[in-house]
Amino acid sequence: MIASFERPNHVFMSIQLHDTLQGRKVPFKPLKKGEVTMYLCGPTVYNYAHIGNARPAVVFDLLARLLRRSYKLTFARNITDVDDKINAASVETGKPIDEITAQFITAYNDDMGALGVLPPDVEPRATQHIAEMIAMIEALIAKGHAYEAEGHVLFDVSSDPEYGALSKRDLREMIAGSRVEVAPYKKAAHDFVLWKPSTPELPGWDSPWGRGRPGWHIECSAMARKHLGETIDIHAGGQDLVFPHHENELAQSSCAHDGAPFARHWLHNGFLSIDHTKMSKSLGNVLLVHDLIKTIPGEVIRLALLSAHYRQPLDWSEETIESARKMLDRLYGAVQGIEVSAADREAAEVPEALIAALEDDLNTPKALAEFFGLARELNKARNDAEKSALAAQMYASGELMGLLGNDPDDWFAGHVKGELSVEDIEALIDKRNAAKSAGDYAKADAIRDQLSKDGITIQDGRDGTSWRRST
Ligand code: AMP
Ligand code: ZN
Repeated sequence: MIASFERPNHVFMSIQLHDTLQGRKVPFKPLKKGEVTMYLCGPTVYNYAHIGNARPAVVFDLLARLLRRSYKLTFARNITDVDDKINAASVETGKPIDEITAQFITAYNDDMGALGVLPPDVEPRATQHIAEMIAMIEALIAKGHAYEAEGHVLFDVSSDPEYGALSKRDLREMIAGSRVEVAPYKKAAHDFVLWKPSTPELPGWDSPWGRGRPGWHIECSAMARKHLGETIDIHAGGQDLVFPHHENELAQSSCAHDGAPFARHWLHNGFLSIDHTKMSKSLGNVLLVHDLIKTIPGEVIRLALLSAHYRQPLDWSEETIESARKMLDRLYGAVQGIEVSAADREAAEVPEALIAALEDDLNTPKALAEFFGLARELNKARNDAEKSALAAQMYASGELMGLLGNDPDDWFAGHVKGELSVEDIEALIDKRNAAKSAGDYAKADAIRDQLSKDGITIQDGRDGTSWRRST
């Protein structure tokens, strides 16, 4: 028998994704062969993004990276820059709306960039698509799906027999159980706003229904259509958006397009809690990415966000961060000091098992387990050629996952932004020793505990205090 040096046959698994509309995992099939369109509901820009907001950005960035391996992807992530919350922020701070939105668009992109989120292909802004929104609203009125009342235009929910399919709500039950006070201009409680009038001090645009501004849902329908077409392959967002936002987008788009499917696959990420508590302003436990990245490397935050499967809840705590930091120490530890040849770097492939895990509804816990398996193999490798090839595979995997982007030596020396630097650590140790000499043991212990929390173990010896980063 002739020995075969070919790689074992890989059965090319298609990508499987859990679709909220169908309520199950289905094989992913784009409309056009070889091309994919994806739309992710982006931020409303009146404040910094919190760590919960970062979850969809990171998770669907990973999906985009995976899709780009096999398809020509067009990924749109919008900016909602007209919204009542922005108007309220302007009144509260006295800053003009444009200044607020410009500030938080930049901050959002910088903060997500720090988490390794690559820019989308298109970043449409609502205020630049008012004409498209008006055109879509006109089409909905013409087709009998919307009506004008007192300067408002409302979507007539009863005109869409499919309404409720995405969120699995029965409209009749919704009406029966409704305690919503019906605005006088509405025909039915669940009819939602497509357009509303603006007072002179509020942002507004001329329209066939007078000066006004769009409702939130129509913004996404109009922007998705403009940049991706009537039927898009993937529509994504956090699970709180299923109802009403996505249900309403679906109703508007399919009714405006004579029943053409709006999204072939609906994907929703689970929620992030803080220390097992819902994040909320009133509880004062809202963690902003902008602040977190001052002390925690972006890669640690990214890995922490990817450590749970995207549809599962994820709890954010000191342990979540510490465990992600340790995982990265293991990954960087494996590649540290290994010379990767140019040929290996060029030829390196991501292990098939890791790809297969991601292709299975973005199973990141499994993909990370495969990544660690690779690190273990590398730790056991005995010759330089094997080490170089395996390290190259580690870097290729890291590139796909958005991890291992730093130099390993910098990682361990603390030169990665957000890590305590060697200078910081030594300054803290000097402070602790000064406190000890002065007899202030409480302060000395507090500094040691703080260092330990930051992953630094110190040891007092005859020659002074030494330290190491814990793994
Ligand atoms: P918003 O600016 O509130 O529309 O939220 C932007 C994105 O963040 C949406 O996709 C939300 O579903 C998502 N999101 C908001 N809070 C959380 C959370 N605690 N956990 C996960 N995703 C969230
Ligand atoms: Zn949206």
